[in-house]
Amino acid sequence: MSTVTVKQLSEIVGTPVERLLEQLKDAGIEASGPDQEVSDAEKMKLLEYLRRSHGHGDGEPRQRVTLRRRSTSELKVGGGAQGRAKTVSVEVRKKRVYERRANQETTATEAEVAAAEAAETAAVAALEAAVEAEASASAAEVQEATVAETPEVEAAQNEPEPEAPVEAETPTEPEVPVEAEPVEEAAEVEQSEPEEPAAAPEPNKSEEINELTNKSAALAKRFEEDRRRLDEARRKADEERKETERQRKLQEEKRKQEAERREAEQARRQAEEAAKQRTQEEANRTASRGKTTKARGKGRGESENRSGRAELHVSSDKRGRRGKGAKGGRGRATADVSSKHGFEKPTAPVVREVDIPETITVSDLAQRMAIKAPAVIKTLMGMGVMATINQSVDQDTATLVVEEMGHVAKPVSESDVEQGLDLGLDQEQREEMVRPPVVTIMGHVDHGKTSLLDYIRRAKVAAGEAGGITQHIGAYHVETSRGGLTFLDTPGHAAFTAMRARGASATDVVVLVVAADDGVMPQTIEAVQHARAANVPLVVAVNKIDKPDADPDRVKNELSQHEVIPEDWGGDTQFVSVSAKSGEGIDDLLEGILLQAEVLELKAPDDGPAAGVVVESSLDKGRGPVATVLVQKGRLRRGDMLLTGQEFGRVRAMFDENGQEVQEAGPSIPVVVLGLSGTPNAGDDVLAVADERKAREVADFRRGKFRESKLASQQAAKLENLFTQMQDGEVKTVNLLVKADVQGSAEALRDSLQKLSTDEVQVKIVSSGVGGIAESDVNLALASEAIIIGFNVRADAAARRLAADKEVDLRYYSVIYEVIDDVKQALSGLLSPELREQIIGLAEVRDVFRSSRLGAVAGCLVVEGVVRRGNPIRVLRDNVVVFEGGLESLRRFKDDVNEVRVGTECGIAVKNYNDVRPGDQIEVYEKIEVARTL
Ligand code: GDP
Ligand code: MG
Repeated sequence: MSTVTVKQLSEIVGTPVERLLEQLKDAGIEASGPDQEVSDAEKMKLLEYLRRSHGHGDGEPRQRVTLRRRSTSELKVGGGAQGRAKTVSVEVRKKRVYERRANQETTATEAEVAAAEAAETAAVAALEAAVEAEASASAAEVQEATVAETPEVEAAQNEPEPEAPVEAETPTEPEVPVEAEPVEEAAEVEQSEPEEPAAAPEPNKSEEINELTNKSAALAKRFEEDRRRLDEARRKADEERKETERQRKLQEEKRKQEAERREAEQARRQAEEAAKQRTQEEANRTASRGKTTKARGKGRGESENRSGRAELHVSSDKRGRRGKGAKGGRGRATADVSSKHGFEKPTAPVVREVDIPETITVSDLAQRMAIKAPAVIKTLMGMGVMATINQSVDQDTATLVVEEMGHVAKPVSESDVEQGLDLGLDQEQREEMVRPPVVTIMGHVDHGKTSLLDYIRRAKVAAGEAGGITQHIGAYHVETSRGGLTFLDTPGHAAFTAMRARGASATDVVVLVVAADDGVMPQTIEAVQHARAANVPLVVAVNKIDKPDADPDRVKNELSQHEVIPEDWGGDTQFVSVSAKSGEGIDDLLEGILLQAEVLELKAPDDGPAAGVVVESSLDKGRGPVATVLVQKGRLRRGDMLLTGQEFGRVRAMFDENGQEVQEAGPSIPVVVLGLSGTPNAGDDVLAVADERKAREVADFRRGKFRESKLASQQAAKLENLFTQMQDGEVKTVNLLVKADVQGSAEALRDSLQKLSTDEVQVKIVSSGVGGIAESDVNLALASEAIIIGFNVRADAAARRLAADKEVDLRYYSVIYEVIDDVKQALSGLLSPELREQIIGLAEVRDVFRSSRLGAVAGCLVVEGVVRRGNPIRVLRDNVVVFEGGLESLRRFKDDVNEVRVGTECGIAVKNYNDVRPGDQIEVYEKIEVARTL
């Protein structure tokens, strides 16, 4: 097994038999003829000899090493039949020759020697690699597929020596010939006849190929050499150039110093010098001009003088212009001043780098250029822009102005604008004090959130402040014997979520109210999820324990299923049994919250500029924009300049929740603030800034930014855009907010919509509920980027306005499968041309008359759009659809009419419906096909 004849070996390694015999002889192995057997040990010896003679040059130095590798594989063509005709043998031959240029050693450069050495090492390495054969499959090779023909060469490991003989046994395996052929690299793919077994190449053919490849390799070699020389020359030139450069810089440095010295001298000598200098400058100018052209040819000796004068020239040129009453700053703007301040006379105009935010006021712009505002206004007028001193101009305009005035404009981005705003806050280390916790109450509807808050408020706030007018400000502070707490009292989960959506986590502790007689409900779970997502600890208030059917243990049980484990069960959540009605356990609850707060170690600086968050804001008829601000750090004082969201302003007055005016507010204290430029959004952060200008600038800037982002976000949560966004990878969850007329529909919708989730996209019901769509629903949708689905319900006027304003996708449906279909289709990108109901008019029922002929006739006022007789209608009661149908008659006074427009009264009789009541709304709609836009 392990012995082969010389002839076989020659076939394996691709060396002619005579040559192999010679080599064997050289290696000291007796070989009488082609039929002589070669043992493993002998093969080893041969390999050893060959390696020595190639690699390390003792013995006869070998010039070239050729490695050849051939692999045969079979391509199966056609459908799996065993027939030979379907098998194509593919033979890949690869040859690699490493050449050592020993005979040219005398003329070879160092690099060449190095290269030759590298080639040598590579040759040995390659030989070794080739011996390993199996391991180094090259890209040009077709993978070997014929297992039967391939005796394992697995033994081939990193140590190549002993492997060669084993290698040699495999007749069709890659060969390891060692030849004196100057071939660089050659790879051939040969397709042979299917019947033909993959055979060794005919000697003469391979000879021929070798010949050709040799030639090309020789050429390549020569080319390689030339390139190396060129590289060498280039590198040298490069070095030289660098050297000159360094010299030149050195000279320049010297020259600069000298020039500075000269400048100082000149300043001392002033008047008489001036005249002389001008003539000298004149001379310099011509001289330097001449030298600049000459400079290329370079001469180190003269460069010092030349450049020194050239510098002076730049400087004096400027002075000259100024003296002539320069036309404009363009020339100056381009002059590179930064490195040449030394040459400026104090009287020379200064080119400033002016930071330009996205918007900037005219006065600010003037100030930054250190010129008077009217000059800027004049320039603006020249450009056709009329602006007053306090007006803001955009970045492009400002840039033009700055350049027109000869300065350098440097546009800055948002972060630059906002930079330095909170410097006062974070740079100095302020002492941190313990602050009261901020608490949000969450829970399912009717579990007693409002009652609980009211109780606490009544007991702790109103009672203490006799005479104060308690008003709803969205937050209030409570003092107990163990410390203070602040409750955020905002409707539902919306505010919590909205604030969180804006990144303002104002809440420290969430109190989860669960009615003991009702247990865990959908919104309870939602609250748990919200709190968990925000990483805010929970305290569970098990409410209504005064009720006979109260079962606090059931609440514990059900909540533990949602990983809210009571403390007495070994968990970390406090459960406190309370009654918002009798007040039982409320003190325990407050204590529990404070305990939780202690664990949290809430701290904030008690002094310094304030930072906080907007809890609520509104526009008051008498007082203008009113915002409830929760101070989070520092101390807010009357008269502070505030920046919040897109608004700013000086605090004109502050009130607490009892309507009492206060002068200042510390951490965790909510106050109502008057004096802002507009109503900020809940969740906007509030920052006291020192500089009104800065506040205005940032607010302006944010407004501009907002407009842009609003345009961009219009796409955010639209059913139409879902698919595109999914494909863009933007959407992973589709958030829906479902409102329905009855609980049954809401639940059915919720379930079937959630089932639409796929691997790629998850359908998430942010909230589902019963009743008309209110403003808070739209807010929640906005915060969670949800699409609102109104099932047989309508949005009230305020919600409609908000939805339209914030571009929230608000859809009305009256058939469940249509909802599901639409969402499903949106997810698959197949949203059909929408058959959308367009509400064209809305009439409010003022009074109802009985008519013997028509039954109930509603006396209505058209409050929106137009009422048309032929269109379908719906009757809404509290924004919930109570009837769907058509109009029996539409009358204006005594006449039948076809349509009635907004602001007009009319009489409406609804077909087949007699239960119209005052206060109802009659909605008139039409079905239109809205072409889908993507
Ligand atoms: P919210 O929807 O969570 O704000 O719940 P409300 O505070 O509006 O309360 C819903 C109903 O439960 C009201 O009729 C309350 O009077 C009643 N309620 C709230 N707390 C208690 C309580 O502790 N005991 C009893 N018996 N009724 C309560
Ligand atoms: Mg409530």
